[in-house]
Amino acid sequence: MPSPLPRVAVLGVSSTRFSGIEVERHLDIATLNEAPAYDVLLLDLPGARAGEALRGLRMDRRYRFSLIYCCQDSDAWCVALGDGAPPPDLGALAPLWRLWRERFGLFDRGVAPERFESRVLAWLWLRPHGAVHAVRDAGAAQHYRYPLLEALADDESPNSFAWLQLMTQQGWLEEGELLDRLRLCISCGSGRLNYVDVCPECQTLEIARQPSLHCFTCGHVAPQEHFLKDGLLLCPNCLSRLRHIGSDYDRPLENYRCRGCQAFFVDAEVEARCLDCGHAHAPDKLRVREVRHFRLAEAGRLRCRQGYATAAVEAESFGQLALLSQSAFHELLNWQLQLVRRYKQPAFSLLGLRFVNMAATLSALGELRGHALVDSLVERLQEAVRDTDRCCRVSEEILWILMPHTDAAGLAVVRQRLAQGAERLASEQIGKLQLRLAGFTAPADLLEQEDAALLLARLNGELG
Ligand SMILES: [Zn+2]
Ligand SMILES: [Zn+2]
Ligand SMILES: [Zn+2]
Repeated sequence: MPSPLPRVAVLGVSSTRFSGIEVERHLDIATLNEAPAYDVLLLDLPGARAGEALRGLRMDRRYRFSLIYCCQDSDAWCVALGDGAPPPDLGALAPLWRLWRERFGLFDRGVAPERFESRVLAWLWLRPHGAVHAVRDAGAAQHYRYPLLEALADDESPNSFAWLQLMTQQGWLEEGELLDRLRLCISCGSGRLNYVDVCPECQTLEIARQPSLHCFTCGHVAPQEHFLKDGLLLCPNCLSRLRHIGSDYDRPLENYRCRGCQAFFVDAEVEARCLDCGHAHAPDKLRVREVRHFRLAEAGRLRCRQGYATAAVEAESFGQLALLSQSAFHELLNWQLQLVRRYKQPAFSLLGLRFVNMAATLSALGELRGHALVDSLVERLQEAVRDTDRCCRVSEEILWILMPHTDAAGLAVVRQRLAQGAERLASEQIGKLQLRLAGFTAPADLLEQEDAALLLARLNGELG
């Protein structure tokens, strides 16, 4: 049976000849839209126009996830929304498209991506180098936009920056290249700020640089022209004649004068004035934000493959353990380490759990029994974890539990309880799921100079 070939359309008027695969030409987007949906599109347009066309096509449900290549140059929007340049031999489009189609069928076990979150994950998962690209836009109040998120938003209008942060905390996306660091108004969030020098006393704009002199005899400081009399330098206060700089007088550091309150000062104060809401802020009070590209993280990829619903339910079950984000957990652990270094007590313990073969077991069990397994796991954990403990799930397999006020004996009790739970699970014959534990108690097991990251890495080694 011959492999199916994709239906390919070219959009554009140029005279480029395409060989290697059959294509249908459309001169503009209107005639393209009238035709039944194609499998692959080639945009034979200059970069800016291709970017515009892509924006429309990604909002169109028929072409939202499709492979769309840009044949001419690419602008930032093309990079953010397109699939790059087509392969030199268009015959290669067929296997690329078959791969794409296979993945599309696999996504979430065949469920079409309905929600915004799953639309974005699906889009990324369908392309080997898919990323959520930030694009600079001088017209935007925050200077950068995420075209992909805008195009896939439909009626929802999530705040791109907040949404990306949430996805990263949950582990679905990971941070890519850092593009920029912005300073934003804390009143309205705008990045359109004007930095002005003002008087540190009365905050007026009316300040000027004014060379001045300082009389050593009486200490008087005044603008230079007040000292000039008939071509000589005379102190206007004590009338001494100033001959030698360094012994009679010098130039004070205060070089600015306020025309409002007459204050003399060394450095003007800088104020960030928001051009959108009019509020003024000290520069160090502004909100700092990093602008990055984002990629699909390993956990996100797994979620696309294994099914969105399973992952969501699993996240919900584990959610009962009051999970902390990785950064929050690191912070908390560092704080505990500082406390125990300084005061030697109370002791605290840290336990790492690794569920070996978790992913394989879940997919072998199927959806329903998989849920049941996760639920019983969480139940066992809840028996072991106390209200005051804090947990962090860093991957599908690994969970950390931080137990304040718990010494080695306390840790041993928890370990024993968990081991019993694991035995019960094993007796219920659930696949090859295995529990590995790595424990730590401070200050006894504390190594010099070890911080949260180093400690977790050391215990991670024990988890194998
Ligand atoms: Zn002033
Ligand atoms: Zn003087
Ligand atoms: Zn503002």
